[in-house]
Amino acid sequence: MRPIGRQVDLFGEPLFRLSLPADYEPFRPAYFEVSRIYLTKGSVATPERRRFVERICGLYPEAEVRECLDTPHSRIELHERDELARHQLGKHILVFGELQAAVRFSQEAGNVCPNYWHFSPYGFCPYDCKYCYLGGTIGVKFFPAVKIYVNLPEMLTEIDRIARRRQRPTAFYLGKLQDPLALDSLTAYSTLMVPFFAAHPLARLTLLTKSTHVDRLLELEHQGHTILSWSVNPPEVSAAFEGNAPSVDDRLEAMRRVAQRGYPVRAVMMPIIPIQGWEDIYTAFTQRLIETVPLQRLTLGGICIYRGARALMERKMGPDNAISVHIDNDTSQIGDGRARYSPQLRNTAYTLIIEAAQRLRPDLELALCLEEKAVWQSTGLRRPGRCNCVL
Ligand code: SF4
Repeated sequence: MRPIGRQVDLFGEPLFRLSLPADYEPFRPAYFEVSRIYLTKGSVATPERRRFVERICGLYPEAEVRECLDTPHSRIELHERDELARHQLGKHILVFGELQAAVRFSQEAGNVCPNYWHFSPYGFCPYDCKYCYLGGTIGVKFFPAVKIYVNLPEMLTEIDRIARRRQRPTAFYLGKLQDPLALDSLTAYSTLMVPFFAAHPLARLTLLTKSTHVDRLLELEHQGHTILSWSVNPPEVSAAFEGNAPSVDDRLEAMRRVAQRGYPVRAVMMPIIPIQGWEDIYTAFTQRLIETVPLQRLTLGGICIYRGARALMERKMGPDNAISVHIDNDTSQIGDGRARYSPQLRNTAYTLIIEAAQRLRPDLELALCLEEKAVWQSTGLRRPGRCNCVL
């Protein structure tokens, strides 16, 4: 990212020319075996994009490359009718494309989550969490491939425009529809995003990941404008429900390292899963998390799942898994339509973890994700809406 000569914008701030990362060595990330690559509409439309894409493709000489340069990424079909088989196939397919309207304002209703800005330089992710909430979303259901969108510079330009129009510090969240660091070893997108937000007077980045690819982050100037959060669960839960993903031990180590470099670090413990002995397991893990990482904020949540994602989860694990057996089916009839545990179980779980956290860190910011007002109130937490995706 380079200032464009002496040009300044309406606010007297220097304008930046944004371009795709070029000065880096891409390498294959763990947890992602690629058997097929699609080049879709817009992916190699400029010499800069073509260079970027070809370097990444060069890392996978064994993969079949299909050029569909007249077809938008969203129109590719896998021709596999069985949804679970399609899902498993998609986890080994890498798609390059261009995402229009990639910076959006969320449309949550029926829970106390504040709406927030989010953006998508990636789509979906290579990990295999059994409870993945993206599994039932329209885009992922029909084309569950891992996507890299090459118009990140244009997304950041749009973020700049939105943040300046709002005239106040504004968070832009990355992690709603993807894992934001899982493919950073391929793209080096962090080297474009972190300096952009560091230099920006108003825009802030919040991201949520399970990846442990933090080496590039350690070398970047962030000015505290990039807030890094990790999705965590006790190792016993992760081992059973988060397949093909970095271990929780490795995630804690990544969190500790970036915190040492001064990044604000948060954790999201979600979905809390009531496996056998869960009370002791979550109490011990909460203590370990807080003793290992100087957290700024901890956000808790239970399962929140739409019908399609639940059906896929139950194809993977059967209907008697520890999530499904605790879902109260009445919960999907109200509010935002997501299925959840009963309010009583959610209150019990949140209270247990909140008390464990506050024993060690009375000052820790605590929040709930995608919760209802009554459950927030039952936990005694104040300030609903000050949760992970926002400042
Ligand atoms: S990390 Fe997130 S997007 Fe990826 S499989 Fe797990 S729940 Fe789904």
